[in-house]
Amino acid sequence: MAERINVTVWNEFIHEKEDRRVAEIYPDGIHAVIARHLRDQGFNVRTATLDEPEHGLSEDVLNGTDVLIWWGHAAHEKVSDAVVDRVYRRVIFDGMGLIVLHSGHFSKIFRRLMGTICDLRWREAGEKERIWVVAGGHPIAEGLGDYFEIEHEEMYGEPFGIPSPDELVFISWFKGGEVFRSGCCFYRGLGKIFYFRPGHETYPTYYNQNVLRVIGNAARWCAPVKRPKPVVGNVKPIEPL
Ligand code: ZN
Repeated sequence: MAERINVTVWNEFIHEKEDRRVAEIYPDGIHAVIARHLRDQGFNVRTATLDEPEHGLSEDVLNGTDVLIWWGHAAHEKVSDAVVDRVYRRVIFDGMGLIVLHSGHFSKIFRRLMGTICDLRWREAGEKERIWVVAGGHPIAEGLGDYFEIEHEEMYGEPFGIPSPDELVFISWFKGGEVFRSGCCFYRGLGKIFYFRPGHETYPTYYNQNVLRVIGNAARWCAPVKRPKPVVGNVKPIEPL
């Protein structure tokens, strides 16, 4: 049997405690719903939240994490720079995978890895989102049809201030007319990063089976590749000179 992938689901966990509408949908937090699904899929899963010491992302926790999932919105600036540095180094030098969800597009870690502003258009009108698969052979699209729909979501629209993705897996269409690059893969150092758009906190998006399927597929895709650390810097010749 293949070795289990260790996933840490990080959530700032604020809206669920402060907004009754959100608490009704996610009484134990968005992280709990995602974690439950991934456990059912055979992943080793732990969760971490902003209020824990070191936001639950100590050196030990990160060293035991193959894939980190990130949901944040209201408190991006409260995430300590030391923890952001630690996550950044784990991605770049150790190849830890990172899945950034929805409003995490403005998180410190995503902006640092992208090197751009990562802004976008948005509208909260509970409109329909149709998510098109535009890379049919990509492992993150496994099990999906040509498209899937979410009946009520927040709209995110282009222009999205990211560098051109290394692989684009999904494009969203919204009832109001906008489109958005909603499934984007990036390679940074040894790490793989997947940005996935859906997941506004006032809609039950993380109970949608297609959304959950994508998160599981992405966790498998961005798990680190097992190989010795690359050698860099000054080296002796391989062949006699
Ligand atoms: Zn949102």
